[in-house]
Amino acid sequence: MGVFDHAEFDDHESLHYFYDASTGLKAIVAVHSTALGPAAGGTRRWSYSNESDALTDVLRLSRGMSYKNAVAGLKFGGGKAVILASEETPKSPELFRAFGRCVDSLGGRYITAEDVGCSTDDMRYVREATQFVSGLPQDAGDAGGDPSPWTALGCFGGIEAAVQARLGADSVAGLRVAVQGVGHVGLYLCRLLHEAGAELVIADVNGDNLNMTTDAVPATVVAPSELLFADVDILAPCALGNILTSHTIPKIKAKIVAGAANNQLSTPADGIRLAERDILYAPDYVINAGGIISVAAEYYGEGSEEDVRSDVGRIRDRLQGIFKEAKETGRPTHELADELARKMVAAAR
Ligand code: NAD
Repeated sequence: MGVFDHAEFDDHESLHYFYDASTGLKAIVAVHSTALGPAAGGTRRWSYSNESDALTDVLRLSRGMSYKNAVAGLKFGGGKAVILASEETPKSPELFRAFGRCVDSLGGRYITAEDVGCSTDDMRYVREATQFVSGLPQDAGDAGGDPSPWTALGCFGGIEAAVQARLGADSVAGLRVAVQGVGHVGLYLCRLLHEAGAELVIADVNGDNLNMTTDAVPATVVAPSELLFADVDILAPCALGNILTSHTIPKIKAKIVAGAANNQLSTPADGIRLAERDILYAPDYVINAGGIISVAAEYYGEGSEEDVRSDVGRIRDRLQGIFKEAKETGRPTHELADELARKMVAAAR
């Protein structure tokens, strides 16, 4: 299938395939929109089954970044990069420098940062080859650095908004929360939930990350295959996308789905399925914008850590607005968020 006929092609402005012979790096960058500013979005390093899955991922993720950046009110369009991971191309400074040269060749149309499979340290090597990168280590008090704690903080506020809207409660104290994936964001989120008195159920396919989390907070560990269907009040997906499907939704016991993972809905019909089951869904790109808010402040050199904290706090208000409208109109939350995002991108175009 060609790109223009691809189911996930959505008027993307450009698509860039990169290969670096010296490191074996294979990467794809998708620029969905530059209407609101340079296309910004993290780099995902993942072992895809095939190139076609990587293309699907980068097309969906880059559109999601356009929506996320627009709704968060940032001077960024939407883009995303994927690095096709393999045993022959392990993580190395050279690999990320080579990737930095790829980003640099786009002349600032695309700005990168860390996403799944990449860290703040990796971005330091990218920075050696390009200025078009954010999410780098910062001095205390300065905006920026690892975006994950900010993503977790925004999610926590979004979860509280959902709890108020769906369960009529003021806090998560005493509620059971299932966190799928305890990596960078998931671990920070677990800490916040635990401090607020929630009971945690967690799963991860990475044993080290599970151990790090159970060392930090009390949590019941379940098998990854059971997590989505755990007997909990809230499901917080913090691993990968495509988890809310016609097969999984009928078995979900949680009354709220609110977490950091991108592209949680497999298709828009799954947003309707959730609403039909009266499961309140926090649209992923609205609730997980904390990290990119921090990335934007760092990139533009605007604002302090405290300003970022206050901007991330507004995620809660945005979701409260969406939940209220959903209740008044009977429309699914993902539709309301998509409508708002599309209008904002179209107006800028
Ligand atoms: P990460 O790679 O640090 O963590 C992801 C975790 O999920 C890993 O521990 C991994 O082992 C686990 N995992 C993968 N498949 C799983 C499965 N089937 N069941 C259970 N666990 C599984 O990534 P992250 O930075 O924490 O990001 C998590 C999600 O949040 C991703 O979807 C990412 O795109 C999204 N997100 C992250 C940020 C950020 O600031 N890091 C910002 C916005 C959105």
